[in-house]
Amino acid sequence: MPKEKVVVDFRFREKLNKITGGKHHNYCYQCSACVAVCPAARFTDEFNPRIILLKALLGMEEALIGEDSPIWLCTNCYSCYERCPQDVRPIEVIIALKNLAVERETAPANLAKLSENIAETGMSVTVSSAVNRRRQELGLPPLKTIPLEELKKILEEDEAEEPSSKKRKGEP
Ligand code: SF4
Ligand code: SF4
Repeated sequence: MPKEKVVVDFRFREKLNKITGGKHHNYCYQCSACVAVCPAARFTDEFNPRIILLKALLGMEEALIGEDSPIWLCTNCYSCYERCPQDVRPIEVIIALKNLAVERETAPANLAKLSENIAETGMSVTVSSAVNRRRQELGLPPLKTIPLEELKKILEEDEAEEPSSKKRKGEP
């Protein structure tokens, strides 16, 4: 039986290379160390950071940033960042993919609401008085006040800068 041909979409890989954090996908050697520490992978078979990286290496744009992509199941815990022996920083590749999905307008609809909340209050969810009461009952300290003016400034500066033009410190 003839072997199935694997076609790599280098055009999509180039696109990913240009987004902050995206180009580290090139260093993945598929060892699975990130999977071993990933809480999302433990929770569901639909999410696996090694598979995300494999798809990135193959340039599978549709599977990664199309509708219903599993990238949104990542919890942003950064455990994979600590564990990866190749300095791939899988979480940052995933964030780069999320930015591409936002550009393509395939991000989940509720994301816009979360972003709005962050811009207005500095928090992704509304903290009601009931939440504060519960925190008190549990002996937790009061939540810190968010410096909204500073946040607004950061968001304005961020908006003025295109995601593809941002670089991590030390990146060429
Ligand atoms: S991202 Fe890192 S830890 Fe995960 S499979 Fe690739 S090389 Fe291994
Ligand atoms: S940041 Fe995302 S991919 Fe990395 S270990 Fe946490 S849940 Fe998994």
